Amino acid sequence: MLDEMILSGLKVYAWHGVYEEEREKGQNFIINARIFYDTVSVAETDSVEDTIDYAKVSLYINEYMRVHQFNLIETVANKLARKLLIKFPLIQSIELEVMKPEAPIPVPFSNVSVRVNRGWHKVYIATGSNMGDSEQFIRDAMDNLDSDENCRVLRKAKMYESRPYGGVDQDNYINSAFCMNTLYSPLELLTRLQEEEKNAGRERNLKWGPRTLDLDILYYDDLIMERDHLRIPHVDMANRDFVLLPLSEIAPYKRHPILGLTTLEMLSRLKETYVETLKEEE
Ligand code: ADP
Ligand code: MG
Repeated sequence: MLDEMILSGLKVYAWHGVYEEEREKGQNFIINARIFYDTVSVAETDSVEDTIDYAKVSLYINEYMRVHQFNLIETVANKLARKLLIKFPLIQSIELEVMKPEAPIPVPFSNVSVRVNRGWHKVYIATGSNMGDSEQFIRDAMDNLDSDENCRVLRKAKMYESRPYGGVDQDNYINSAFCMNTLYSPLELLTRLQEEEKNAGRERNLKWGPRTLDLDILYYDDLIMERDHLRIPHVDMANRDFVLLPLSEIAPYKRHPILGLTTLEMLSRLKETYVETLKEEE
């Protein structure tokens, strides 16, 4: 459980809204924020340098809301929450409420507001390449993601060489895995990773065919989701030693949220089935 800092009733005069009058004249907005972070290490040093400075947070909110102009308070809340997470690295998640008590509503009312919850998510990515300078493609992708303000790469596995999977005749692969924090939603992350694949000149043609860069989402926190174009955890990860081996280096004890097995357990299970298959063939 994380600790909280609560900032309430922050009043900002700004110009968000869809109506001409709101955009010209402006009005008062009230902000409430619950900021989730860890106060233990902060309490140890007891220094404002080491904590989230609430004066700075308040000034940042004030400035951001006055400099930008949006139609909707939903947009204000979403963009501002994300910016606060980027600007103040100790914030792990935030609940942000944007109130518009003077909104143009033609009947008496006391308040209208929007509240969003945003935070850093921990994701594990598997990566592979078997065309061109594979190690360079993989390293570049990790670096590019790390320089994206919405991502922070935390741990990288070494590079491993593996034989191709799926029966297509092609060169050996270089595989690796990494772990990062991200503000992207699962679908945004998939799009962002596909952008990196495109950067590396990947063309999608043959299933399981050769590629300059492949980036697959293995885990997104402990989320389980199934969409047409995105399934998390990655459906085939438990059957792939070239995924599990690099993953076991950076997350040996992380449990698969569906199978309930750690990376090491999945890996040894896979080795057992290999042995069995070999035995059957004898
Ligand atoms: P693969 O990675 O299985 O060798 P591709 O990289 O060509 O093959 O991916 C095919 C499709 O898999 C992508 O277009 C993507 O929409 C889908 N997909 C489903 N789940 C995931 C996931 N967890 N991570 C990445 N892609 C996924
Ligand atoms: Mg892929």
